[in-house]
Amino acid sequence: MIEPKYKRVLLKLSGEALSGDRGFGINNDIVNDIALAIKKIREIGVEVSVVVGGGNFWRGRTSEGMDRTTADYIGMLATVMNSMALQDALENMDVQTRVQTAIEMRQIAEPYIRRKAVRHLEKERVVIFGAGTGNPYFSTDTAAALRAAEMEAEVILLAKNVDAVYDKDPKVHADAVKFDELTYLDVLQKELKVMDSTATSLCMDNQIPIKVFELSTENIMKAVMGENIGTTVK
Ligand code: UDP
Repeated sequence: MIEPKYKRVLLKLSGEALSGDRGFGINNDIVNDIALAIKKIREIGVEVSVVVGGGNFWRGRTSEGMDRTTADYIGMLATVMNSMALQDALENMDVQTRVQTAIEMRQIAEPYIRRKAVRHLEKERVVIFGAGTGNPYFSTDTAAALRAAEMEAEVILLAKNVDAVYDKDPKVHADAVKFDELTYLDVLQKELKVMDSTATSLCMDNQIPIKVFELSTENIMKAVMGENIGTTVK
């Protein structure tokens, strides 16, 4: 039996990760790949919760001319669409799941109840958290940090479209330097694009390590096995 390093993880997926090259909407093949990766880590005994972003449909902070809170609520609804798509892909692979939303929409998902979510994890169900924190002016990164703290997850797996954290954008600058390890304060002081500052501070205050790596089935497995990939922030 393979022994994972972590028993309970929170996987944060950006909305864009679900859209593939198109950058918009949901790419079924990609969602299926992600679901398969989650199934595999579930099968080796890892308790998995997931926070999905909504940037493949909508981002509150970039919707000009609209009231910010309204725009943010639209963004939160977008995360619910993504959560449901991921749920569907997982259930098609016989992985038991529950979606819990921070804004009640009982016809389609359970409302977020911490104790219930923990119970689902203990019963080997994958819990997908939709609607972010339920509050405007926050991000799904902050939702990931908050839910990780509440679930007592040992680590946040931050699957991105770059393989690690760099001092500058490696796609633009050939001399960008890759970091293997960083402290939360490094991320805040150097304004590195790992998570936004609210999310980073929440992780710092609650000592939740963040593992940043490029999204792929193999990498999600490597990350839970404790292999040295990407960048660790702690
Ligand atoms: N959002 C929000 N509160 C939250 C989480 C998300 O208002 O707690 C809104 C916000 O408008 C954000 C959008 O939902 O722009 C989509 O989330 P995010 O940008 O974090 O998604 P990602 O970039 O990870 O795809």
